[in-house]
Amino acid sequence: MSVVVFAEQWEGRFKKTTFEAVSYGRRVADMLGVSTVAVVIGSLEDDPSELASYGASKVVHFSEDSFNSFDSSAFASALKEVAVAEGARSVILSGTSNGKSVVPSMAIQWEAAPITNVAALPDSVDPMTVKRGAFSSKGYVTYTTSEQKTVLCFIPNAIGAVEFPGAASVEEGSVSAEARVRVKGVDRATGSVPLPEAELVVSGGRGLKGPENWGLIEELAQLLGAGTACSKPVSDMHWRPHSEHVGQTGIAINPNLYIAVGISGAIQHLAGVSNSKVIVVINSDSEAPFFKAADYGVVGDAFSVLPQLTEAVKRFKQG
Ligand SMILES: Cc1cc2nc3c(=O)[nH]c(=O)nc-3n(C[C@H](O)[C@H](O)[C@H](O)COP(=O)(O)OP(=O)(O)OC[C@H]3O[C@@H](n4cnc5c(N)ncnc54)[C@H](O)[C@@H]3O)c2cc1C
Repeated sequence: MSVVVFAEQWEGRFKKTTFEAVSYGRRVADMLGVSTVAVVIGSLEDDPSELASYGASKVVHFSEDSFNSFDSSAFASALKEVAVAEGARSVILSGTSNGKSVVPSMAIQWEAAPITNVAALPDSVDPMTVKRGAFSSKGYVTYTTSEQKTVLCFIPNAIGAVEFPGAASVEEGSVSAEARVRVKGVDRATGSVPLPEAELVVSGGRGLKGPENWGLIEELAQLLGAGTACSKPVSDMHWRPHSEHVGQTGIAINPNLYIAVGISGAIQHLAGVSNSKVIVVINSDSEAPFFKAADYGVVGDAFSVLPQLTEAVKRFKQG
């Protein structure tokens, strides 16, 4: 018996959330009293046995070239094959865009109960009872299923990675299903820190008045090593690329720190950022709705507050 974890890689390197997924899987496995098997799909530069440090006792690696393009159905087939071979009780995925698109196919192929948006470790594993975000993460519900087999997809950065001692065996996987998707080209998002993985994000809204003022956001983001994001109108007006648009109709992010500058805090914006651990709001209007969701708020003009904040960070970094 086991818990199987989808250990995602990007261009051969493990994603940060993979370590969180494996250690989440290990903690569920410990609750069930079973082992943890990580499944890596696609070519890998990193050492697969690295996953032992996060609790995997076995790594199954599907390295065939056909798996180098993401195909949700074929990836689900590979995971299902391992789940069946290992007598899995649960399959764990991180709620990345790839993880989320594998879940439905995985649950159907393996005939298991899917639970997405998982926000914590299970309260119980028999029956599986787990807290999940609901209503665009404005609230939480606790789900219980009588199904023995479950597919759990957690909110990235909601749980955190934990290290475990031990070693892992590595096996080559083989699967009858072949990936049918071939990627012909990739348009890369601009910005040095990919938003879905960013631990810190500096974000601007219409309060910044125009694209010519984004240097203020970029300078602070660069100093902090943060990703840059924006509200929907900002990307609709082509002040910033659509890849930076966060919210209900944009990317949902889960950073440790979200700094929102000149953003009103509309419900559709909050839907994509409210899982941030700490929210700092800078807005000239003390009545802006975003202040209700903020951990820290600065009522002030962005064009005066941002340079002061940037200078303060510079001074702090200089010791
Ligand atoms: C179906 C639907 C889906 C949507 N999806 C999204 C989504 O995914 N993401 C999203 O962001 N929006 C989304 N929206 C739009 C959303 O409702 C808001 O209109 C949008 O978030 C507002 O963007 P904003 O806060 O940048 O602009 P505004 O609402 O114009 O707010 C600008 C803010 O800047 C402040 N400000 C002005 N000048 C300064 C200054 N000098 N210094 C500091 N602060 C200043 C103002 O006080 C104000 O609070 C959606 C809307 C709909 C109907």
